[in-house]
Amino acid sequence: MRGLSHEARRLDMVERQIRARGISDPLVLAAMRKVPRHLFVPEEYQAAAYDDRPLPIGGGQTISQPYMVASMTAALGLAGDEKVLEIGTGSGYQAAILAEIAEKVVTVERRQDLQKRAARLLRELGYANVEAVTGDGSGGYAPRAPYDAVIVTAGAPRIPEALVEQLADGGRLVVPVGSAFHQTLTRVTKRAGRVETENLEGCVFVPLIGEHGWGEDVSN
Ligand code: SAM
Repeated sequence: MRGLSHEARRLDMVERQIRARGISDPLVLAAMRKVPRHLFVPEEYQAAAYDDRPLPIGGGQTISQPYMVASMTAALGLAGDEKVLEIGTGSGYQAAILAEIAEKVVTVERRQDLQKRAARLLRELGYANVEAVTGDGSGGYAPRAPYDAVIVTAGAPRIPEALVEQLADGGRLVVPVGSAFHQTLTRVTKRAGRVETENLEGCVFVPLIGEHGWGEDVSN
């Protein structure tokens, strides 16, 4: 892949890592083809930005593997007119993918250094429909609730109740649930006040730390 442009690598990433693994949602594929992932990783990792793996973004945190970003986004079943809440802004890459598809994205990050960097980059790239907030998102973000979709990009010990409460009727929550080292991607759908839970696939995320997540002392 040496010598190929970022765009050529990105298109190849979508074909081999995402479409070949069964993700066919055209809105997700178009967003993954468009967003310049290499701008969301530290300079020393730019050459690896389109590789099939997560990458470090500083502070012990990661930008998720491209396939996982696509799979979680597809699991939200977005049509384009939704208000979406993301917990765990990290680099801002997942927020950009969501912003390409949805009408409005609210993204919450507990680390102010990451939140500031991501907010600046998203602004520079013209994502005017993203609101980036600093804080503990394990209890959601009540000021903009309800949400048509909620995505948590950190591993939770259990389904955070407040996130289910902040879902609109018909809304979907996608959250990794399990131990600090391995989780199951879980989708919760709210319909007429009833809640349906599905287990989608295994995954590994850094821990969701906060009031409705893990304690600060969880091994990270
Ligand atoms: N979505 C990110 C991206 O596209 O780069 C990757 C997220 S990274 C795997 C998980 C992020 O969740 C970290 O940046 C971490 O600081 C953040 N986080 C952990 N607990 C949180 C909480 N309670 N509220 C908000 N963010 C949290």
